[in-house]
Amino acid sequence: MAIDRPRPLPDEVSAFYWEAAGKGALAVLRCDECRRMHHPPDLACPHCGATALRPETVSGRGTVFAATVARQAFDRAFVDAVPFTLALVELDEQPGLKVLTNLVGTTELVAVGTPVELAIEPHGDWSLPQFRVVGS
Ligand SMILES: [Zn+2]
Repeated sequence: MAIDRPRPLPDEVSAFYWEAAGKGALAVLRCDECRRMHHPPDLACPHCGATALRPETVSGRGTVFAATVARQAFDRAFVDAVPFTLALVELDEQPGLKVLTNLVGTTELVAVGTPVELAIEPHGDWSLPQFRVVGS
């Protein structure tokens, strides 16, 4: 019997992220005080501590900052998913603004600096933001 994979459980901090994904977009929080963006969502700005934050849609374009290939599943729900490529993607909007993601369309190691773009994966009533190598 197949094991269901865990699904996101949006809360008041992350709901905007999942709502944007459902519309095919990627959103992160921007601080009203220092104007810097951060991810993952949090209650306060990690740069200045302010709590006045608002969601902002970003382009979904970035470059690979780091990558690895997962060849062993550490959760039984992902046994049939390996191998898959994981990447830390630095978004074009701001140096240091990074998103941890699967890279779809490849099971190979991808070089640092490779351009990537948003690839939304629909799952019925929710959607998962991921990335793919540009042109793949
Ligand atoms: Zn701030």
